[in-house]
Amino acid sequence: MGPLSLLKGIKSKKIMSWQNEFKDALKTNEDLEKFFDQKFSKITYPLFIPRNFAKKILDFGPDSPLWKQFLPHENENLSVGGLYDPIGDRLHAKGNQLIHRYDNRVLFTPTTVCPIICRYCFRKNELADKAEIFNQNFLEAKNYLRANPEINEVIFTGGDPLILSNEKLAGFIQEFSEIETIKYIRFHSRTPIILPSRIDEGFIEIMTSAKLLFKRSMIMIHINHLAEIDEYVEAAINLLTESGIEVFSQTVLLKDVNDQTEILAALFTHLADLKVTPYYLHHPDQTLGAMHFTMSLEEGRRIVQPLHNQLPGWAIPQYVIDIPGGEGKVLALNSEGFEFSGSLINRHGKKILLK
Ligand SMILES: *Cc1c(COP(=O)(O)O)cnc(C)c1O
Ligand code: SF4
Repeated sequence: MGPLSLLKGIKSKKIMSWQNEFKDALKTNEDLEKFFDQKFSKITYPLFIPRNFAKKILDFGPDSPLWKQFLPHENENLSVGGLYDPIGDRLHAKGNQLIHRYDNRVLFTPTTVCPIICRYCFRKNELADKAEIFNQNFLEAKNYLRANPEINEVIFTGGDPLILSNEKLAGFIQEFSEIETIKYIRFHSRTPIILPSRIDEGFIEIMTSAKLLFKRSMIMIHINHLAEIDEYVEAAINLLTESGIEVFSQTVLLKDVNDQTEILAALFTHLADLKVTPYYLHHPDQTLGAMHFTMSLEEGRRIVQPLHNQLPGWAIPQYVIDIPGGEGKVLALNSEGFEFSGSLINRHGKKILLK
């Protein structure tokens, strides 16, 4: 029995619980106002919070990092300085669910749905509009990968790929495994934090099979604050790591949420203890509708640099910034000082002036 046949026995029965949780989520201002027993500003962006997670937010209260990340705020209606598509996804989208910015790897966006809607999301405008970058055409995506053999990695993102059923994910993985040039696959997901029960037996089977089909297969969990980890989240992460699956983390630096060295140090220490490797700390993007989460590069550097005094290198993620306009990610920490000259050098060595 080869690894491919392992993928075939996965049944949707096993995933009913998280799917029901998903259906029953809070989706309107009225839902929120009833649940949280208070008024919220009317904003133009969609809302989505599963009830179990909403209970957690309510327990932590209005000043908490959870409340600020997930409950709507009138500042989302402000447009000053914000970009519709801050990292220039549309410039590199291929019209087939692939975004190809870097030579060797592509983003694959099989869904626009997420387990929760984060108010700071860098893709919030495109996701709200179901922009054409998300148009589905899997046959073309496969043809594109075959026609561009320099691409050796497919990164499942979205939306959040773990919102898809195990059958769907197994199908995609099987198809990618048939393209010989694809060596690595990766999932970018917030679901293990928001709906930890999604990390079910079927998903573990998929990741275990993927280990045999690719040289590396990984999951990058999006997590911003220690308050997001409870016993269920820990159980989900333990299930992944104890099954021998490679788990990394990605964190977004966010004003008034985690913009303190101590908060970040506590988060990365705990992740390291859970055998999760901190991968990226993203400087906040200049996103239309999320500018209240941003800070200057100098402020960010002052927060991040002291981490080296508190954590070993293997527990410190790379602090990166996506240069607006599709220039791509570059290191954000300048070891020569905190001041910022106004330009960043992109991945091709070109100086880009930030506005
Ligand atoms: C962030 C990103 C990736 C992943 O880059 P890594 O540095 O390998 O994590 C790939 N493609 C695009 C378009 C991206 O924005
Ligand atoms: S889970 Fe990711 S893609 Fe979805 S709303 Fe949050 S930040 Fe955006």
